[in-house]
Amino acid sequence: MGHPLHMHFVTSAADPDMLPPTVAEVAVVGRSNVGKSSLINALTNRKNLAHTSKTPGRTQLINLFAVDNKHDATDKALVDLPGYGFANAPAKVKASWQPMIEGYLTERESLVMIMVLIDGLVGPTKLDIQMLDWLRSLTLPHTVIATKHDKVKSSKRNARKRDLAQGCLLEEGDIVWTSAAKGVGIDRLQDLTRLWLEL
Ligand code: GDP
Repeated sequence: MGHPLHMHFVTSAADPDMLPPTVAEVAVVGRSNVGKSSLINALTNRKNLAHTSKTPGRTQLINLFAVDNKHDATDKALVDLPGYGFANAPAKVKASWQPMIEGYLTERESLVMIMVLIDGLVGPTKLDIQMLDWLRSLTLPHTVIATKHDKVKSSKRNARKRDLAQGCLLEEGDIVWTSAAKGVGIDRLQDLTRLWLEL
């Protein structure tokens, strides 16, 4: 057992400028269905903080959770960004995603780390690679988190870890492998989150 992050929901916003100020913030991005809600819930040891059953409309908001704060302070936060690449999202949703997310990621001054979630079974998709290229081009701080470790057969894990790292142009050791279902890597990610947020 690690130390779960205590989190509480603060607010949702379509416009990043409407978010309350914080001193440090970690953002989580990934394509829809990557396991983002499950991972956030695993970090906090709560089943339903980030909703795992969602409709495309409802997930197109930026959700801000305060982390480990006493007296309801909201100065350290985890920010859940809408998933990209909804297969059947309406064009309007797709068109609003990019300026919202790019605006947030480039302008949020308290942003200290971006967790880029990549499906461990599927490997990096074209959209994931685009996201990584874009983050690199702007030198925004980011860490790749592979999800669903338990879904990769143990006989295939070493090869998959190597391939996923190569696909992301990273070293294997740069990637944090996790399973929300089995608890793999969750302690480590809780520790990293505390480190990033200076908690
Ligand atoms: P989101 O759209 O990125 O928020 O993804 P969800 O957290 O809703 O997960 C998408 C699907 O993947 C759901 O059916 C989850 O149960 C499943 N899932 C998420 N994390 C894991 C995991 O660690 N292991 C397994 N086996 N399934 C997972």
